[in-house]
Amino acid sequence: MKTITTVQQMQHWSDAARARGQRIGFVPTMGYLHAGHVSLVDEARKRADVTVASIFVNPLQFGVNEDLARYPRDIDRDTQLLRQARTDVLFLPDVKEMYPEGFQTTVTVDRITRGLCGLSRPTHFQGVTTVVAKLFNMVKPHVAVFGQKDFQQLVAIRRMVNDLNFDIEIIGAPIVREADGLAMSSRNAYLSAPERHAALCLSQGLRAATELVGRGETDALRILGAARRIITDEPLARLDYAALVDPDTLEDVTTVRSPVLLALAVHIGKTRLIDNRILSRESTVESREQGKSGIRNGTLNSRL
Ligand code: AMP
Repeated sequence: MKTITTVQQMQHWSDAARARGQRIGFVPTMGYLHAGHVSLVDEARKRADVTVASIFVNPLQFGVNEDLARYPRDIDRDTQLLRQARTDVLFLPDVKEMYPEGFQTTVTVDRITRGLCGLSRPTHFQGVTTVVAKLFNMVKPHVAVFGQKDFQQLVAIRRMVNDLNFDIEIIGAPIVREADGLAMSSRNAYLSAPERHAALCLSQGLRAATELVGRGETDALRILGAARRIITDEPLARLDYAALVDPDTLEDVTTVRSPVLLALAVHIGKTRLIDNRILSRESTVESREQGKSGIRNGTLNSRL
């Protein structure tokens, strides 16, 4: 695996790969990697001839009171994991390389970034779409893979790619979970032992709602009530939001007719965690299964 730290070298490498006729797959990350990130690299490798993963903790997507300074980092371990996953290039720019003096251009995706996480993190998605647009111009991928774990981010990036005519295929990959159901996240490293246990209320809330829909419930308030109850019953948890939305527009739904997204954000102590699941009347599939069903390869990946 080659490590590249400058924009110029990255663009040069990608131009050469393209000139050889190679298809470039790309996985952007903020590092402190886990099996969820590795699954994205695996997915990119299936869809491309060469794979680039980036690690960049992007200051632009952190709010003033958020965890930028203490965001976990372990570049040696990350390098080892990416090498094991047979990544071809690790792109590792620093903040000065990404945002040199005088930087003042941003990319904003409007409506779909206002709700859900946008309510408590009003500048977050602008930071994400700006850095991803820049990374796309640096890595020049044919295909880029993002996790459904950050569902609103995935929808915003699809929107940006469509609206700004980036010639890049966007793939959404299923959420990878710990054995007990907790969605993997670099931020899980912040959790104390009691908090780690309390954090199970997210996946348990999703499961309760899934079961309700499986029994034929279609009323959004009742479905949300089932998920909220499990979270509010957990003393270490504080609900940010629980929402049932259309997976394409992210607008609230009141009745479950076709697949809907149940999205959660919950503070466990000082750590804010998110999780989500697609619910449908026909099949209340695990998100791991979403990859095998039409949802990933059909509807969710081709809409927008
Ligand atoms: P991050 O490093 O947290 O910015 O995430 C980088 C990419 O990994 C994003 O596309 C995330 O959606 C994805 N990701 C994070 N956690 C998971 C997970 N548990 N399963 C699948 N993808 C994930």
